[in-house]
Amino acid sequence: MTEKKKKKSVEEKLSLKNESVWKDADKKTIKEIFDYAEGYKEFLNEAKTEREAVAHIISEAEKLGFKPLDSVKKLKAGDKVYVVNREKNAALVVIGKKPISEGVNLVGSHIDAPRVDLKVHPIYEDSDGEMALFKTHYYGGIKKYQWVNIPLAIHGVIYTKEGKRVDMKIGEDDSDEVFVFADLLPHLARKTQGERKGTAVIEGEELNLLVGSMPIDDKETKAKIKTNVLKILNDRFGIMEEDFLRAELEIVPAWKARDVGFDRGMVGAYGQDDRICGYTSFTAIAEVKKPERTAISVFFDKEEIGSDGNTGAQSNFLVILMAELLKHEGNTAMFDVLDALRRSMALSADVDAGINPTYKNVHDLRNAAKIGHGIIVTKFTGSGGKYSSNDAHAEYMSFVTRLFNEKKVPWQAGELGKVDEGGGGTIAKYISQHGVETVDCGPGVISMHSPMELSSKADIYASHLAYKAFLESVWD
Ligand code: MN
Ligand code: MN
Repeated sequence: MTEKKKKKSVEEKLSLKNESVWKDADKKTIKEIFDYAEGYKEFLNEAKTEREAVAHIISEAEKLGFKPLDSVKKLKAGDKVYVVNREKNAALVVIGKKPISEGVNLVGSHIDAPRVDLKVHPIYEDSDGEMALFKTHYYGGIKKYQWVNIPLAIHGVIYTKEGKRVDMKIGEDDSDEVFVFADLLPHLARKTQGERKGTAVIEGEELNLLVGSMPIDDKETKAKIKTNVLKILNDRFGIMEEDFLRAELEIVPAWKARDVGFDRGMVGAYGQDDRICGYTSFTAIAEVKKPERTAISVFFDKEEIGSDGNTGAQSNFLVILMAELLKHEGNTAMFDVLDALRRSMALSADVDAGINPTYKNVHDLRNAAKIGHGIIVTKFTGSGGKYSSNDAHAEYMSFVTRLFNEKKVPWQAGELGKVDEGGGGTIAKYISQHGVETVDCGPGVISMHSPMELSSKADIYASHLAYKAFLESVWD
């Protein structure tokens, strides 16, 4: 052996390797990855709101034998139960062989996604433009200019004066009408938009949804176009103007999930942050049979606006869930609940930023995640000096990464972006507040929070493998 070759082998031995999942993938593996993505795309098309995600997950879980927790008298190992909180937050639980008092394995994702909501008094008529429009208030961190001039659908619930619930989903069928935020033509945009800052090209109060352009055939009526829209809605759904204030109507892209690229290696779709983790943690727990420790996949609402509210990760949902589970072991004291949480461990399942080849400058490339290189273990999130970050302990990083190596889960470590570039948070810090050992762990996404987010099919499947390995694991 020459001296040169020896040196190389030392490098090989000591240096970190981070290779593309595709690199050595055989045909069978690629087929497995591609087949898995088909189910994921269907889920994205079905679940465009948090309510739809919960409904879809629970109906699939019921087919697999999951039962409402309060319908089970005495839990035993292998039992599959679920809890739903106000249609927007849910947990699937597979009872383990070890007592729950010794702690659980938890994968927590969020199923809300950035979107545009209606204001409480949305509908108005513009008499100069002769159109009816909805006033809106966006939800989460969107780049507003990305939402104009694309086909949009309206999903949600609305309650009538009598308290009758009406479910709405308009714009998803190819024969449905769609809705649009109309942008300004370039010919006349020189001053109005050209002199604005990039982030303000479209302002919040300019996201006015075009919903009608034809007048009602009635001489007495003043606001003819608005009234025509109200009449159509009343005929179809039995609702009236006042009902909009007792509604949750969400405006989302009307298009479906698609394969991206000639090789079809990526998925392009709305809502991948964070339904990519919602779906993969669902399919993971669906495959958990009789684990050592109790396994839980939990789906939170409101992460995109700070995890607030009684369906978000800052609520006491986890504490109450743990208390309900522990009742079956005869433990009802608050201490028992807190102690079981302290003995638990979690993956905060959320997406991280993949390198966008056109905007590499925002990353420290040595610490940025590559699309197609597996699930990302993100030790800390936060911004500008690790503020608002969970920052996982080295001991736990050691456990999780060794687990992934042992179970052959493709993974990489990553950080959101350059130190002073910006930042973002996840539910990790809210889960760890309960004493739960926690680290962020999810696939990379490009064009995050846009109406067409991009992810690698390899990373989607790696996430499923990672969450399954974790749910079935024991940290000795
Ligand atoms: Mn997220
Ligand atoms: Mn997000």
